[in-house]
Amino acid sequence: MTNPSQNAPRFGTLAVHAGQDPEPTTGAIIPPIFQTSTYVQPDVAEPKQGYDYARVKNPTTVGLEQKMAALEGGTHGIAFSSGLAAIEAVVKRLSAGDHIVCEENTYGGVIRMYTGVLAKLGLEFSFVDTRDPERIRDAMRPNTRLVHVETPTNPLIRICDIRAAADIAHEGDALLMVDSTFASPFNQQPLALGADVSMHSSTKYLNGHSDIIGGVLVLNDDQLAEDIHFVRKSSGAVPGPMDAWLCLRGIRTLHVRMPVHNENGLAVARFLEAHSAVERVFYPGLESHPQHGLAARQMSGYSGMVSVDLGDPARARSLATDTRVFQLAESLGGVQSLISVPALQTHASVPKDVREALGITEGLVRLSVGIEDVKDLIQDLDQALS
Ligand SMILES: *Cc1c(COP(=O)(O)O)cnc(C)c1O
Repeated sequence: MTNPSQNAPRFGTLAVHAGQDPEPTTGAIIPPIFQTSTYVQPDVAEPKQGYDYARVKNPTTVGLEQKMAALEGGTHGIAFSSGLAAIEAVVKRLSAGDHIVCEENTYGGVIRMYTGVLAKLGLEFSFVDTRDPERIRDAMRPNTRLVHVETPTNPLIRICDIRAAADIAHEGDALLMVDSTFASPFNQQPLALGADVSMHSSTKYLNGHSDIIGGVLVLNDDQLAEDIHFVRKSSGAVPGPMDAWLCLRGIRTLHVRMPVHNENGLAVARFLEAHSAVERVFYPGLESHPQHGLAARQMSGYSGMVSVDLGDPARARSLATDTRVFQLAESLGGVQSLISVPALQTHASVPKDVREALGITEGLVRLSVGIEDVKDLIQDLDQALS
């Protein structure tokens, strides 16, 4: 749907149609998986529409990028082989000596990449609690080039005020990147709130079926897009065309899946909050969440990610192993429900003292609530808790 005339298409229409016009040669209604490494050129150094080599450009991937740009209200989508590769490409635009301010409770792999890989190349990092935007301001330095927030965070479901973070980043001449993976574009629109880059691990809600690894960035600035394309073609972390195609297909039902994730997530959170075996529930849609008001202002739904503190490692472990519908696995955002113990799984690479200080204890269990019948999900948790 590339016609932005009087009646601009709405989210669900864009999810179904954007980036996938019928294939011109045959009229195939679904775009082909362009499984090719290179393209025949009509003359020397005259590729058709810029298609010269598939590390640079692939039509299936371009369709995915157009769809994501349309859904996030951006002008550029750039797809990657993973969420971490997408983040890395934004950071690789920087130079040794540049400084990045990052939320302290990000996805565990982000902290591992920043401290274990990129810090060795001379980039500097500060990790702060971005629930309070003033902490970002305090951490800013003259060489700060990027502020990286994640909202909601993994697994403590903290919320960062995107508008406030953008203002502080911009005052310091830095960019704001928002990892919006837990929200999906259906529930949160970072660019409209002032972010420069909206980032997703498309492995999660976007693809939605737990069958690919992928990442995507959406942005508005032409020069920034050119710089990131330069990093991607130079470093090579492009998605395979089959994965891009699966993601394109997954996103076609994003607006149908997300309302069920939102409803089921809230119902599960309410059930757990009322359960005597549970010490604390982390879910932005609950009135008891300390940042519920902010979440209500900047999100239109709260997704299916719920964390629960049982206050005891053994009970956390038995909840994670005794559920039957919720399956014990890392990752999130797929149609089927998953359960995990972050301290021992996704965040095992975060040093124990740092983890515990944050509240990622071995008693914390993370649920990715899927789109099954919610009565079965609640019954499953009930039997596992008792
Ligand atoms: C999974 C995830 C990532 C990393 O994405 P991959 O696709 O696994 O590389 C980054 N941020 C968040 C919030 C995630 O959940």
